Amino acid sequence: MPPFSKILIANRGEIALRVQRACRELGIRTVAVHSTADKEAKYVKLADESVCIGPAISRESYLNIPAIIAAAEVTGAEAIHPGYGFLSENPDFAEQVIKSGFIFVGPSPSVVKTMGDKIQAKKTMANAGIPCVPGFVGTLPKNSDEILSIANAITFPLIIKASGGGGGRGMRVVTKETELLDSINTTQNEALAAFGNAEVYLEKFLQKPRHIEIQVLADNFGNVIHLGERDCSIQRRHQKLIEEAPATGISDEQREKIGLLCSEACKEIGYTGAGTIEFLYENNQFFFIEMNTRIQVEHPVTEAVTGIDLVQEQIFIAANQPLKYKQKDIKFKGHAIECRINAEDSETFTPSPGKIITWHTPGGLGVRVDSHAYSNYVVPPHYDSMIGKIIVYGKSRKQALSKMKIALSEMVVEGISTNIPLHRSLLEDSEINNKGVHINYLENKLRDMKNTDD
Ligand code: ADP
Repeated sequence: MPPFSKILIANRGEIALRVQRACRELGIRTVAVHSTADKEAKYVKLADESVCIGPAISRESYLNIPAIIAAAEVTGAEAIHPGYGFLSENPDFAEQVIKSGFIFVGPSPSVVKTMGDKIQAKKTMANAGIPCVPGFVGTLPKNSDEILSIANAITFPLIIKASGGGGGRGMRVVTKETELLDSINTTQNEALAAFGNAEVYLEKFLQKPRHIEIQVLADNFGNVIHLGERDCSIQRRHQKLIEEAPATGISDEQREKIGLLCSEACKEIGYTGAGTIEFLYENNQFFFIEMNTRIQVEHPVTEAVTGIDLVQEQIFIAANQPLKYKQKDIKFKGHAIECRINAEDSETFTPSPGKIITWHTPGGLGVRVDSHAYSNYVVPPHYDSMIGKIIVYGKSRKQALSKMKIALSEMVVEGISTNIPLHRSLLEDSEINNKGVHINYLENKLRDMKNTDD
């Protein structure tokens, strides 16, 4: 018996196709919802049913809660999978899905809400025993001297973060005491305008950390397991570009220790479903930054090294099934790397939507391409520029790197610009080839490359 008869996928692009594939394998019928801009997309046609939920602009389609719930009602879907982005971490959406009689494939609305507020998330995780970046998460005093003494206790440089921030927005680094009060003011004003919440907090600014995150799965019966870590340090403007599992230099003991801490914390906070606990990693220490209460773009690298289909596990958990795995059943094998393919200029990073004339994907043992694109597909200008992901799996990091180089050399996209040339050059970078790099490495490298050109 399939866990559900029909699931509505409240998303678009590669993740909509990814979730659809998971459903099809489980014998679950699928409903695609789409904007007018996506009506010709292949994944929409591949779904058992499809419903147009509004015009191209996301606010009126992929973020339109009443339209999505109405689509679930008319098609008789039992559950709604939110994918990532859009409404996936919106507690109101989760709540309305449940109130309308559907199952939300994700954790409870209250957990989504707590983790969506950075101050609440940090307090909750610290209470649950997770190591956090040193800082101050209380209400900032009115008195300037008191604020300065809090900041000096943290020590400069520090980072001011908006509690309601997200997607790399609402943060400001302060290097000098003289800049602190003005910077707090500006961040508060910006946060109020952007997120409707002026609350900010202070954190030590780590100079050369790596971004390492832990994948967890938790069922409705208090069973929680972790599926190891992913290193996502290769980023530009806080957007991940290349991810891998395992992270170089993390020992089995370290993995077990931080993984167990994460599992215990999830148990304590009543977390259910798939989730990711993100850390900055510096001087062999993990510091919590945030938790994502949804499936992540980079989930396939974990699937490759554990052999577990994370989207199917999300569905089983939502169907109230107990986890089939205990922690001791999770074995990590080999090495996986993912490159995100974006429709953007490789040097200027300007988006490059439009018609793809030629689309040839790589193949071979250990090569996976998750993408909704194809020859003649028109990349709409309205959404995120990511059009696919290449994921490779090898016995060792060396083999995975070699497979990725070959995969990137085979990939042909004509008609629009992509960041494939950038990926090819990054795969030749000696630092990236040798070891894990820190989160500012790519931006520093791009700056150096630009200065050499000038
Ligand atoms: P968002 O929700 O906007 O993604 P995060 O808290 O996850 O915000 O932080 C995004 C990125 O900002 C991190 O991946 C890291 O690159 C940088 N960052 C956040 N906090 C710190 C810190 N304390 N020190 C150094 N860099 C930080």
